Amino acid sequence: MSRKILILGVNGFIGSALTEAILKEKDWEIYGMDMASDKLEGCLGSPRFQFVEGDITINKEWIEYHIKKCDVVLPLVAIATPSIYVSDPLRVFELDFEANLEIIRKCVHYKKRVIFPSTSEVYGMCEDEEFQEESSHFVLGPIHKQRWIYSCSKQLLDRIIYAYGVHNNLDYTLFRPFNWVGPKLDNIFAAKEGSSRVVTLFIADILHKGEIKLVDGGKQRRSFTDIDDGIDALMRIIENKDNIATGRIFNIGNPTNDVSIRELAELLLKLVKEYPDYKAIAEKVKVTDVSSEAHYGTHYQDINRRVPSIKNAEEFLGWTPKVDLTTALRKTLDYHLGRAAGELDSQ
Ligand code: UDP
Repeated sequence: MSRKILILGVNGFIGSALTEAILKEKDWEIYGMDMASDKLEGCLGSPRFQFVEGDITINKEWIEYHIKKCDVVLPLVAIATPSIYVSDPLRVFELDFEANLEIIRKCVHYKKRVIFPSTSEVYGMCEDEEFQEESSHFVLGPIHKQRWIYSCSKQLLDRIIYAYGVHNNLDYTLFRPFNWVGPKLDNIFAAKEGSSRVVTLFIADILHKGEIKLVDGGKQRRSFTDIDDGIDALMRIIENKDNIATGRIFNIGNPTNDVSIRELAELLLKLVKEYPDYKAIAEKVKVTDVSSEAHYGTHYQDINRRVPSIKNAEEFLGWTPKVDLTTALRKTLDYHLGRAAGELDSQ
């Protein structure tokens, strides 16, 4: 069935990969807004993709008009970078919570289906072996640990969306990405300013700094998920065959890619050495320890492990992740190292 999809934050890591997949595999139409379009190179010419440069906190009329016009809304605009949770918590609240609440309310008003990015971060420091969507507890630190403002903002939106589902029949699905990685996650040059996630940061550290810093020894673990697996899950959620995803929450992660941050650093170094042009650079890299306080400041608190239960996604979406961590990192390195060769000279 053909459908019209509104993607806010269409140039982001998830938005751009989703747009590419939809244009390739479906006959759906996409209306997208973002402040830039650099990740959308291959999509901009498509007659099924209308891109508008804009800011969701300003271009409200355009958004309202398109919520009315479309069948499904994906509000993907958010700051999802831990260093910013501690350096600029109010901006995280204003964008991730306030701006998105307005959009959710419009979806309720116009009775539109909304697919909302919750986060694996809502589980916080939960100690369950595997985090379950319906039973795990959300465990956050004290108020002065400002890292939790993101988790808390997303949690409250999850609860609001759920309540709109119960009381106003909002047709929704919440999905929780577990450390999705891939080529366009963050920019390795911006990574120098500390606005990136760990995989991009480590690649930038290897290329530019000759030193990888492991926060508190790198014992903390994450389950990294390849972007293509994540997009496969999202396509099934948008498809929503027999309304199977309506009113449900899905962890979208890969429990078999659960590694410590130290293991991640070692694997990345090993893989970079496979690229002849970068072997010598990688061989000189030192892996050192840094305290979380020195790296992020006192408002930070870490999460020791984060493994998803994916039973819901397997059962209702027929989805399982397929890409192992080495393959996911190689895809990311192919992208950055291929580009870096040319771009390093021009920076
Ligand atoms: N980390 C690290 N060195 C860095 C950056 C991050 O050891 O230079 C750690 C960080 O403390 C965290 C993990 O890597 O435990 C993942 O960090 P990321 O920023 O990707 O996001 P998170 O998974 O915490 O949301």
